[in-house]
Amino acid sequence: MNRYGSSASGRTRSARRSTLVAIAALAAAGAALAGTRLAGSDEPSTRTAGPTRNLAANRFDAGRAFRFLRWQVQLGPRPAGSRASKRLAARLRAELPNGSYQPVPGGLRNVIGTVRGRQPGRVVVVGAHYDTKDLPGFLGANDGASGTAVLLQLARSFRPGDVRPTLVFAFFDGEESPRGTPDAEFELRGLRGSKIASRALRHAEAMILLDFVGDRDLALPRERGSDEQLYASLRAAARRLGTGRYFSGTSELFVLDDHVPFQRAGVPAIDLIDFAFPCFHRPCDNLTAVSERSLDIVGETMIELLRKL
Ligand SMILES: [Zn+2]
Repeated sequence: MNRYGSSASGRTRSARRSTLVAIAALAAAGAALAGTRLAGSDEPSTRTAGPTRNLAANRFDAGRAFRFLRWQVQLGPRPAGSRASKRLAARLRAELPNGSYQPVPGGLRNVIGTVRGRQPGRVVVVGAHYDTKDLPGFLGANDGASGTAVLLQLARSFRPGDVRPTLVFAFFDGEESPRGTPDAEFELRGLRGSKIASRALRHAEAMILLDFVGDRDLALPRERGSDEQLYASLRAAARRLGTGRYFSGTSELFVLDDHVPFQRAGVPAIDLIDFAFPCFHRPCDNLTAVSERSLDIVGETMIELLRKL
């Protein structure tokens, strides 16, 4: 994932600077306590603390999702092409409904699962990247494991015919650009798996990307480049469920992420990403940065959205 400002000239090369811009924008909107977030506190935040039992529905097994997040982190760093990454891919393929590999150049592989809908000609893609940034010791509990965990649990939550569209669960390899490549070349060198998947799925009517969805202090405003109508449907689902406060507002920032190749292929797409994550590509992106409750908020809201499409 890479971020850039709202104007073409405002494009920033420094991810750190972009992070601060994002945090400043959120703080200005009164949505977050920037100081608290920057401190990287291990304490659960008050905004995402407490049970989710008061929601209008309880269909997502967040405990199971969180156990899978923890299993991924225990594999250690999982950069594209690594042994740990291959082990993760094998488990995804085994556990997914109709799980299969989709080859990606460079010896990489996407993992794809499918649940047939009542209107099987309609296709909705839900995606996440399962590789981690190739930095020494980087565990990617939020950046990598959280989206992967919610996505696998979503795939386990639907039986054929449960919803109208056919659901394609796409786990992208090689989202992160290879070690040593500059951030400015992210679009060229990264997004490797989603570039391949978007070609095969260009007939899809919608694509929803899950990235950075485990942040303890969860806030998922509309990413500036994300489809307004699709985000409005998500927000409506969240309001019906009781999670509306986590899905509100629009960020000042555009995010370059796995949804972009789909958009370029003509598929309306949204990126659910918590931009204001203080541990972006830092060692503190570990189990202390994420919470089961955040996975639950995203998982429950996604089930409510997919049931209404
Ligand atoms: Zn990343």
